Amino acid sequence: MLQQDLHVHTTYSSNDSAIVAEQTLALVTAVKHAEIVGISDHLDSLVDGDFEIYEREIRQAGLKVGVEVDGHAWAAEAANYIVDYYIFHCRDQDADYHSLDKLLATGKPVIVAHPNILDTNLNRVPSGCLVEINNRYVWRTDWKQFYGPFKNHFKFVISSDAHQPNWLGQAVAHYAAEQLGIQEHIVFW
Ligand SMILES: [Zn+2]
Ligand SMILES: [Zn+2]
Repeated sequence: MLQQDLHVHTTYSSNDSAIVAEQTLALVTAVKHAEIVGISDHLDSLVDGDFEIYEREIRQAGLKVGVEVDGHAWAAEAANYIVDYYIFHCRDQDADYHSLDKLLATGKPVIVAHPNILDTNLNRVPSGCLVEINNRYVWRTDWKQFYGPFKNHFKFVISSDAHQPNWLGQAVAHYAAEQLGIQEHIVFW
C-alpha cells in the first residue's frame, strides 16, 4: 500500500472531462490504495454550494479534505473553506507566486501541483511549500532537469492525480523520485 496520496479527484470535479462516473468517493474510499488518502477536487466545482456536503462526506469516510485551486483568481476564495491542505496551480506569473504566500499564511500545507506542466519557476516558490511529483504528468517533461536542481530545497510529495479508478497508483512518480534521490515527505501522520 502507498503511504499517502493527497491528490485524488472524484465525481465532485464535475467540470473536468477526465472524470468518469465510476470515480465516486465511495469507490476511492473502498479501494484505499494509500494509508493516508486526501481528496482534492477542483475548488471551482465546489463553490456553488457543494463544498459542505463534500467536506462532510470525506470526513465521514476518514479521508483528508483538500481542494485544488486554479491559480490566483481562486486563492482568496480558497482561504474561506475549511480544508486540511491546499493543492495549487502556480503558473509563471507574479500573482500566482503571491498567492502561495497567502495560502501558506493559513498555516495549512500548500502543495504546488505538477509544476513541470504549468511552467512554474521553482526558484520563485516559497520554500515552505511542498512540491508535487505527479504520476499523471511527471513523465511528460525532462523531470531530471526540472526537479534535480531543487531536490534539497523543498519537501516533496508524490501524488496520483487520479481521475479514474485505474489511475489510483503512483508507479512512475515513485520511479522518478527514486532516480532523483528524493524521499517523499509524509504530510499527515
Ligand atoms: Zn491540476
Ligand atoms: Zn488534479
